[in-house]
Amino acid sequence: MAGMTSSTAVVVGAGTMGRGIAQVLVESGWRVHMVDPMGDAAAQGQEAVQAAWARAVARGRLDAAHAAALEASLDAAPDYERVEGPPAWVIEAASEDLELKRRLLAELESRWPAGTRLASNTSSLTIASLQGGLRHPERLGGLHFFNPVPRMALVEVIASPATGAAWTAAAFDLARGLGKTPVPAPDRPGFLVNRVMRPFYAEALRLVEEEVAPPEVVDAVMEGAGFPMGPFRLMDLVGIDVNLAVTAAVYAQTFGEDRYRPHPRQQMMRDLGWLGRKRGRGFYDYRPSTDLPTEAPPAPPPEAPRSGGLVAGSPAFQQAWRRLSLPGRLSDEPPEPGLLRFWVDPDPGAEPPRPAGPATLLVVDGTRQHVEPLAARWGRPVVGFDPALVLAGAKVMTVSGYQGPEVAQIFAPLRVVPVEDAIGHVFSRIVCSLVDEALRFRPRIDPAVVDRAVELGVNHPRGPHAWLGRLGAERVAAVLAALRLVGGERYRPSEDLLRAAEREPHASLAERGGI
Ligand code: NAD
Repeated sequence: MAGMTSSTAVVVGAGTMGRGIAQVLVESGWRVHMVDPMGDAAAQGQEAVQAAWARAVARGRLDAAHAAALEASLDAAPDYERVEGPPAWVIEAASEDLELKRRLLAELESRWPAGTRLASNTSSLTIASLQGGLRHPERLGGLHFFNPVPRMALVEVIASPATGAAWTAAAFDLARGLGKTPVPAPDRPGFLVNRVMRPFYAEALRLVEEEVAPPEVVDAVMEGAGFPMGPFRLMDLVGIDVNLAVTAAVYAQTFGEDRYRPHPRQQMMRDLGWLGRKRGRGFYDYRPSTDLPTEAPPAPPPEAPRSGGLVAGSPAFQQAWRRLSLPGRLSDEPPEPGLLRFWVDPDPGAEPPRPAGPATLLVVDGTRQHVEPLAARWGRPVVGFDPALVLAGAKVMTVSGYQGPEVAQIFAPLRVVPVEDAIGHVFSRIVCSLVDEALRFRPRIDPAVVDRAVELGVNHPRGPHAWLGRLGAERVAAVLAALRLVGGERYRPSEDLLRAAEREPHASLAERGGI
C-alpha cells in the first residue's frame, strides 16, 4: 500500500495534544508536519516541542546534535502546502467540535489517496459520528492519546464497525512503534478509560453536594487509598470546562443515561470561570497569596490500644486488618464479658455482642447501613467504618457515627477522617461504582485489557477488575444495592456483578436477601 512506505505523518491541530503527538512521532523517526490554521498556533506548538527538547538537552537526556536532527524533522505551518507526497498517517487533534472535525476529515480524505490513513484523537465523539460524511469511512479510526502524550503510555485504538481491518492492524503497529501500549477500545461514548472514569468524578461531586464530605476530604481519602490524585485535584488539572464537556457529551450520546448526568456544580464552576489550575482557581485556590492559612502539621497518631479488642470478619478481611498493623485480636468467637474495649465487625446487621458490656465500642460497616439508628436501637455508641479501605490496604479510614477519641486509637496507624453517616462513605461509593461501570461494557472487554488501560491511562493503583477481586463481588454489589435504596436506579448493580457475587462461596442471591 502506498501509504505504508511513507515515513511522513501529518498532525492536524497544534494544541496541547497535537504538539505532544507530533513530539513522540518525531522522536520515533517520523517526519512530521503539524498544521494549525489559527493565528500563530502552529508556530507556538513548534516552539513548545522545541522547548521540550531543549530541556532534555539541558538535563543531559538528549545530545544537542540529536535535538537538532529532531527539530529538522518537525515542520509546522498554517496549511498543508509543504507536505510532500501522500503521508502514511494523518492524525487529527483539532478542537473538540463535531462539525469542525467532520468538515476537516472530509477535506483530508479528498486531499490524499486511499493509502493515507486517517485517525482522530477525539475524546468524547464517537468515530462513527465522524465517519458519517466520509466517502471511505474504512480509512478512519480513533487513536486516543492521553495527556501529557510523551509521558502517558496508553493509546486507545478505536475501530467503528465501518473502520477497515487493515486500518486497525496498522494503528496498533503505529502506536507500538511510538513506544506506547495500544489497547482496543469500543466505539462508544467515552471509549474505555473515560467511560470507566465517569463515576470517579460523578460520585465525588455528589458526595460534596450531599454534604457527605468536602472536596479536600474526598481527595484525601482517595489518595490515602493509593490513587495518585483525588477526583477534585484531577478535575482541576484536566479543567472543569473540559471535564464538563466530556461528561455532557457522554450523557447526550447515551440519550440521557442517568449514571452519566453532569452535575450542576460543574456548570456553576464553569459559569464562574473557576476552571481549575489553568485559571488559578477551581475546587482549590492556586493563586499565590500570603494570607492563606498554612496547613497544620498532622497530629502524631494516638497510642493504639493493642489489646482489649476483637476483630471479626472473613479471613480476607482479618488478613488485611493484620497487614495494616491494626490493633485487636482476630476472632470469630463471641466476645467475653468484661474488658472488651472494642469490637469490629465488617458484616452489616450483626447484633452487638450481648455479653460484651456497655463499655464496649461497637465498630460496624458504615457503608451498607446507617449507624446512628443502630446506636439508638442498641443504646450505645456505634462507629461506622469503611471495610473496603482495610481490604484496599489504605492509609486512611473514614468513620461515621460516634466520634470519640478512642476511634482514632482503634484505627491507628491509619489516619481517621470523619464523614457523614451516609451509605457508601467515600471510597466504597466511588470504587464500587467504577467497578460496576467496567462490568457493563458490551461487547464485553477482556478484564486484563480494562485494568491495563485504566492503570496506564489514569495511573490508578489497580484497575476495576482487580478492585473487584480485592473487595469481593458480594461487597461491591451490596454497597451498590444499599446506595440504590437512597440514590435510585443509577446505582442498580449490573447483572454481571450480581452473577459474580453469586459465584462467591457464600449464600445464594435469594438467601442474601439484601441485594
Ligand atoms: P487545544 O484547544 O489545546 O488544541 C486544539 C487546536 O486545534 C488549537 O490549536 C486550534 O487552533 C486547532 N484547530 C482549530 N481548528 C482547526 C482546523 N480546522 N485545523 C487544524 N487545527 C485546528 O485542544 P487539545 O486539548 O489539544 O485537544 C485536541 C483534541 O484532542 C480534541 O479532540 C480533544 O478532545 C482531544 N483530547 C484531549 C485531551 C486533553 O487532555 N487535552 C486528551 C485526549 C484527547
